[in-house]
Amino acid sequence: MAKGLLIVLSGPSGVGKGTVCNELRARMPKLVYSVSATTRHPRLGEENGVNYFFKSREQFMEMIEKDQLLEYAEYVGNYYGTPRDFVEETLESGRDIILEIEVQGALKVKEKFPEGVFVFLLPPSLDELKDRIQGRGTENQATIDHRMSVAADEMRLLEQYDYAVVNDEIDHACRRIEAIITAEHCKVRKP
Ligand code: 5GP
Repeated sequence: MAKGLLIVLSGPSGVGKGTVCNELRARMPKLVYSVSATTRHPRLGEENGVNYFFKSREQFMEMIEKDQLLEYAEYVGNYYGTPRDFVEETLESGRDIILEIEVQGALKVKEKFPEGVFVFLLPPSLDELKDRIQGRGTENQATIDHRMSVAADEMRLLEQYDYAVVNDEIDHACRRIEAIITAEHCKVRKP
């Protein structure tokens, strides 16, 4: 049986990766979503095992030591990582899986899965990105400033990706990503 596609959706924090990913899951029910582990505290409404697996620093370190993470990154003072077994089992079973992760982690996944499909979600502009990070209302000013400076650095890594999708409107962005996934399935794979 053919393996599933590994799709990595990345881009700066605040660009709307989470929203786009949730919408894609609703539109493409067969697409499997990888739930990450993090040491960040849950935001209001977030559930353990649904949005993230919320871990203590000690638990996260243990996952690293036991090689249970496909990749991990420290991002604005917290750790985030992708549980390895779930991704590998999903691909082996022939199903597509999407990872919604920041750019450092995405580049580590690329080293291990060069055949993956790497999609960079872009904000219409950096000003727009700042508005979105501020508008979320869940972060203090120091965190917003930190996230903005990280975002500017992250934008420079765009050329390492296969596709760039501007998140001007959620519907447009999702349609473009659906088209990318369809095209990747139609691609002739050279032996
Ligand atoms: P947030 O705290 O806003 O949920 O996430 C912060 C950043 O961490 C976002 O850019 C998000 O995509 C990224 N992220 C979430 N899960 C993972 C993961 O498993 N690995 C990596 N490298 N980044 C992640």
